[in-house]
Amino acid sequence: MSTAPQPAAGDHADVSFWLETSGDDLTPRPPLTGDTTADVVVVGAGFSGLWTARELLVRDPGLEVVVLESQIAGFGASGRNGAWLAAGIAVTPTTLAERTSPATVRAVTTAMRDTVEQVLHAADDEGLDIHARRSGILRVARGRHEVPHLTSSLDAMRRLGIDQGVALLDVDALAERIHVADAHGAMFDPYGAAIHPGRLVRGLARAVERRGATIHEGSGVRRIEPRGPDGAVRVTTDRATVRADAVVVATEAWTSQLPGRHRDVLPVYSLIVLTEPIDDTRWARIGWAGHELLSSHRMTVDYLSRTLDGRVLFGGRGAPYHLGSRIAPAYDQHAATHALLRDQLTSWFPDLAEVGFSHAWGGPLAMPRDWMPSFAFDAVTGVGQTLGYTGQGVATSNLGARVVADLIVHGETPFADLPMVGHRSRRWEPEPLRWLGARYLQGALARVDARAARTGRPRSGRTLAERLIRH
Ligand SMILES: Cc1cc2nc3c(=O)[nH]c(=O)nc-3n(C[C@H](O)[C@H](O)[C@H](O)COP(=O)(O)OP(=O)(O)OC[C@H]3O[C@@H](n4cnc5c(N)ncnc54)[C@H](O)[C@@H]3O)c2cc1C
Repeated sequence: MSTAPQPAAGDHADVSFWLETSGDDLTPRPPLTGDTTADVVVVGAGFSGLWTARELLVRDPGLEVVVLESQIAGFGASGRNGAWLAAGIAVTPTTLAERTSPATVRAVTTAMRDTVEQVLHAADDEGLDIHARRSGILRVARGRHEVPHLTSSLDAMRRLGIDQGVALLDVDALAERIHVADAHGAMFDPYGAAIHPGRLVRGLARAVERRGATIHEGSGVRRIEPRGPDGAVRVTTDRATVRADAVVVATEAWTSQLPGRHRDVLPVYSLIVLTEPIDDTRWARIGWAGHELLSSHRMTVDYLSRTLDGRVLFGGRGAPYHLGSRIAPAYDQHAATHALLRDQLTSWFPDLAEVGFSHAWGGPLAMPRDWMPSFAFDAVTGVGQTLGYTGQGVATSNLGARVVADLIVHGETPFADLPMVGHRSRRWEPEPLRWLGARYLQGALARVDARAARTGRPRSGRTLAERLIRH
């Protein structure tokens, strides 16, 4: 476990703009102080844990559900992300088709597109205003070298029968929506919404409490023991143990800090910068009235969104991986990466060159070896999990929670054929190989992007780094 001291109540507002503006009181809930029992214990109060608690109680309102959170609800990636509620998973449709079948790709796509709607409807049902805008996604070709990726992505979607509503926009059609420097067209995908993740995660915590769950914050779990001879699982914090019928691990990047699970997921840092609110004159020049989620086609990943109060969020990976999969609050800040993100944002929108940045934060996401999430519950051990979203968990965590709740309450799920259900990725290599591999890839992918931008030629897809990350 992280040995970082527990932050004081007010400190959590510093975690991200989203927690700061969640509109919720961030004072930690009381920790678990004495041994107790429950039907289900959920470890982690991010989207995964809180959706799991909710979905369990939707299926069986009489269940006793206890959620244990080491910091506060929303402290992890759920309170820090890029605001993309989107239908994608990290494994590309083409790779998923190679690993499984086109029919499976269609089933995953349908389930994920529906999940975006499920999240929006569930938020409405719980009375949460999450600033949702059904904006869709624009994948912008920035530079000539990115144009071939537009057509190849759409061709692949057509071949797999998942291109409904997806359209290519030429330079003029894109300019009617938004002015991005050096844009050569875009692919529009309607299956995405911009949200306020802080309002969603903090609101969900209140919602599951209203449904009867108990959340203990400041209650880091140290040990999870599968079902013993007495039929109970045991989940132990520093202070106390909960005996229960089932436990669901929903700790995403922090799963790598749990005993025996160091190699299950790689904690990868994603970092974000956020501007001050932008004035109307600049907005008039930029456009972006549709609040679409934006990205380019870079291997090193960039993602943009607009806040309801008129700021621009720019995020990207690239902060270094730390030997031994270490996670620490200090790694949320990385001056060089944050500076690069600020430069990249002004290269997208030169009009913003004089605009100040109000926030810079970051956090770890969980990358399994094969990039495929795992939604699982083992009725023999009583241990379940939903995790491993590789940076695409805002929607996926809801699908995982519904699957795990189905398996716990009903013993079966209508999603049983999806490849994430019951899935276990192979483990990461031991250190220092893991560190060497992760650092090599980070550097090599940045060089691939830089070369394509410099030469104007699309990346070949044949470099070692590109082949290694083909997901
Ligand atoms: C900077 C950034 C940007 C991102 N942008 C997007 C995006 O735009 N769209 C998208 O789909 N995905 C995005 N992601 C990924 C997405 O945010 C996550 O996949 C998702 O929020 C995961 O939710 P979770 O509940 O599984 O994990 P988390 O939100 O990380 O929650 C895990 C919780 O477990 C707690 N915990 C850890 N260890 C213990 C323990 N031992 N005992 C008790 N509690 C523990 C943590 O404190 C934390 O609150 C982003 C991630 C990051 C870091």
